[in-house]
Amino acid sequence: QEVQYKNFPMVPRVVFGKGSFDALGSILMSKRKHSDAPFIFLVDDVFEGKELVGRIPAIFNDLIIFISADEEPKTEQVDVLVQKVKDDSMEPPSGIVGIGGGTVMDLAKAVAIMLNNEGSSSVYQGWDLVKKPSIYHVGIPTISGTGAEVSRTTVLLGPEKKLGINSDYTTFDQVVLDPDLTYGVSKNQWFYTGMDCFIHCVESLNGTYLNAFSQSYGEKAFELCKEVFLDDLSPCESRDKLMMASWHGGMSIAYSQVGVAHALSYGLSYLLGVKHGLGNCLVFQHLEEFYPEGVAMFNTIREKHEIRLPEGICANLSDGEFNTMITVALSMEPLWENALGKQWRTSITPAKLKSIYQKI
Ligand code: NAD
Ligand code: ZN
Repeated sequence: QEVQYKNFPMVPRVVFGKGSFDALGSILMSKRKHSDAPFIFLVDDVFEGKELVGRIPAIFNDLIIFISADEEPKTEQVDVLVQKVKDDSMEPPSGIVGIGGGTVMDLAKAVAIMLNNEGSSSVYQGWDLVKKPSIYHVGIPTISGTGAEVSRTTVLLGPEKKLGINSDYTTFDQVVLDPDLTYGVSKNQWFYTGMDCFIHCVESLNGTYLNAFSQSYGEKAFELCKEVFLDDLSPCESRDKLMMASWHGGMSIAYSQVGVAHALSYGLSYLLGVKHGLGNCLVFQHLEEFYPEGVAMFNTIREKHEIRLPEGICANLSDGEFNTMITVALSMEPLWENALGKQWRTSITPAKLKSIYQKI
């Protein structure tokens, strides 16, 4: 039997450090095709009117477009943005820069792909369906945890499914890691997105797909998460370390897979629009059967930081609605196989999943 070796693309360039955002101007200068080929900055609208916007190195015909992260990215939204960029710039852009959390970074990746590929972005949801390289794109995270800054996917809600555009062209060409940009994230959101990273580590390290490559990143990310969430670091050290935990957590799942929490969280998100970080937390707290040590640590962290998770989310759902979530969750086959092995179908039944959703 032929072994399938993944030939995994990595981010080829990265800067790290407090204040490194200010290196962006010179980084982009060398990538400007000419003065009529603008850079398009997609920026989380939480920064509208804030000091950071004044530091964006927009010159010539560059465009700054503010994006709301209230809802997760949609294929339709990507298509509208691509059309807007085409209409508003005289020449094909020099590149796209995404400044924000997983939501804005995923949009930036998708827009960069779609500026060079035909049709609707929904056509490319899946694995390796993108035909032509994307335009130059830069990711600048302003909240830490998703690993979207290193991954080769951009997760989009499409007309039929919530699924990533997984391709070698998705990965950013450049990332700027400036931990100071995460200053100002609310405590709840810090916890939700940070726990996304923690859960990436637990699911990767306890999965059947684990290998030395994933383990080396997963263990480092897990160690950093423990320091950030259980020790008493200075705020500055904590921001630095969580940013690197996110990076390593993302690298860890790149060469393996996520697991039970992500599969169930996708169902919640598809039906109810529950956002990724919160959805993972809502599910993960009830997974002691699958991840006993991880869930115990999660609860310790939650109590230490006095986070109260919403309750009764699934209280009034119909059987049809439960079934929709269950179908979405069960369709994530590689996640189940990673979590439980090839025989996963013997223990994971619709009734089992319903009993977990009913607790949320
Ligand atoms: P997010 O981007 O949705 O942002 C969450 C909230 O934090 C928003 O209200 C946003 O405005 C706010 N925010 C961001 N930075 C801030 C700052 N510096 N100060 C104050 N507020 C700030 O959150 P997220 O958890 O980073 O991203 C979730 C998204 O990432 C989901 O759409 C999910 O599907 C996606 N995701 C993608 C990958 C991938 O590999 N591509 C992996 C995991 C998750
Ligand atoms: Zn995740």
